[in-house]
Amino acid sequence: MKKLLSLCLSILMIVGLVSCGNKTGNAVTSNETAKKLIMCTNAEFPPYEYKDGGNFVGIDVEVSKLIGEKIGAEVEILDIAFDSLIPTVTSGKADFAMAGMTVTEDRKEFVDFTHTYQTAVQTVVVPSNSSIASIDDLNGKKIGVQQGTTGDIYCTGDYGDANVERFPKIVDGFQAMKSGRIDACVVDDEVAKNIVSQDASSYKILDTAYAEEEYAIAVKKGNTELLEKLNKAIDEIKTSGELKKIVDKYIK
Ligand code: GLN
Repeated sequence: MKKLLSLCLSILMIVGLVSCGNKTGNAVTSNETAKKLIMCTNAEFPPYEYKDGGNFVGIDVEVSKLIGEKIGAEVEILDIAFDSLIPTVTSGKADFAMAGMTVTEDRKEFVDFTHTYQTAVQTVVVPSNSSIASIDDLNGKKIGVQQGTTGDIYCTGDYGDANVERFPKIVDGFQAMKSGRIDACVVDDEVAKNIVSQDASSYKILDTAYAEEEYAIAVKKGNTELLEKLNKAIDEIKTSGELKKIVDKYIK
């Protein structure tokens, strides 16, 4: 009876261990299961990352998978809010963040960035009948941005906190602009073009660049092992033309 009881206890313990394992969502980069890498992103940013049916698609999604192939790892996607990406990388719950993320000095305090893989321009979008024609005309206007992005940071600095309306997804900002609640949106150029192309008669993109930026992948500070692997893979797909091929598929 005692033996049976201890056998039961052992089984319970094993079952417990197995079901607990891997539930923490902790990312792994350098142990026996290093074949899987968790990439966190915010899949609300076409053409870089978005959902098509139930699938994640976009430039960053394809590039991350290709990089995974190069370094012998399977990439799993974790879709979260843009302003949670850096904390998720620093806490180790994801191995890297790839989300059309601009390299900035402030972000470098929290994460390390790979070599850059794309350039972007912060762009102003207004309703098609708007009188706003330049960046100066934005003074005193209500500007929509995606929360935590460089557009948010720059507009808050230049036009004041009270004039900036933050959205979890920039498409919601476009809707607010369409219904007249806000006057403009500031967002990365290719995303602006992508969203405007779905509803071309409602919006116009100002012919004036607000800020120029470069995208890179963010990893946990000090994870040089992964950083070096990613850099090598980025350099390789740049020289081979594989990166350009993916970009050209999404940006015509
Ligand atoms: N490039 C911008 C940034 O890094 C926006 C990125 C995004 O919204 N996914 O802040």
